[in-house]
Formats: sequence, C-alpha cells, structure tokens
Amino acid sequence: MKIETKKRIELINITDHVNEHVKESNVQQGICVISTRHTTSSIIVNENEAGLRGDILSLLERLVPENAGYSHDRIDDNAHAHLRAVLLGSSETLQISNSKLILGTWQSIFFAELDGPRTRTVDITVIGK
Ligand code: ZN
Repeated sequence: MKIETKKRIELINITDHVNEHVKESNVQQGICVISTRHTTSSIIVNENEAGLRGDILSLLERLVPENAGYSHDRIDDNAHAHLRAVLLGSSETLQISNSKLILGTWQSIFFAELDGPRTRTVDITVIGK
C-alpha cells in the first residue's frame, strides 16, 4: 500500500488497513508480515496514545539528533533519519488466529515516517490456511 506522509517525522496508525488485508486473505491461522521499502522509515507496534506517540518521537530526536557530524550527511543530509530507522527496524511479523491479528488491547501497528513528507510503500503479506 501507498502512504502519503505529511510531516518530517510522525507515527501513522495502519492497524485497520493491515486488518483489512488479513480479512481479504481469508487466512484463519497464520502470520502477517508488514514491511517498509524505505531506509528512512520503520514499522513498529505500540500503544496509540497521543502523549506516547510524542514521547517516542522525542526519544528518537534525543537519541539521534540531527547534524551531529554523521558521514552520510556529506552526500544526503539525512543520516539521522537512517540511524533512527536502524533503531526501530523495518518490519513486524504478527500472528493470525481465527482470521484476526493477535494484538494486545493496547497494541497498534504504526508506520514511522522519519524523513518526510514523502510517498511511501508498505508491503503486507499474509501466509496461512
Ligand atoms: Zn540518505
């Protein structure tokens, strides 16, 4: 699927969209892999609470500040975005039971934009029976 991100960094809840894929697959028991094709974005699972979403983004800004003398900035000026993506990872694998993703009450799936705004591609593959 395509995602048009709006901000420089943001977390976008894609849980409903992933659930639609699971439903359309007719898989009852299996796994679902969600991955980003980009080196400056990530897929994560966490709580969808506005304060926490802000806290996650602030943590990334504190851990990996911009323009901190990175080598990659000499050619692309976005090393911080790549490094933040390294910390969060590029995919999540979730289990499917009774045609539904197994997610805890407070778990949502997020696309993390780390160098936006851009048009992004996320792949969702459902495997099972
Ligand atoms: Zn780059």
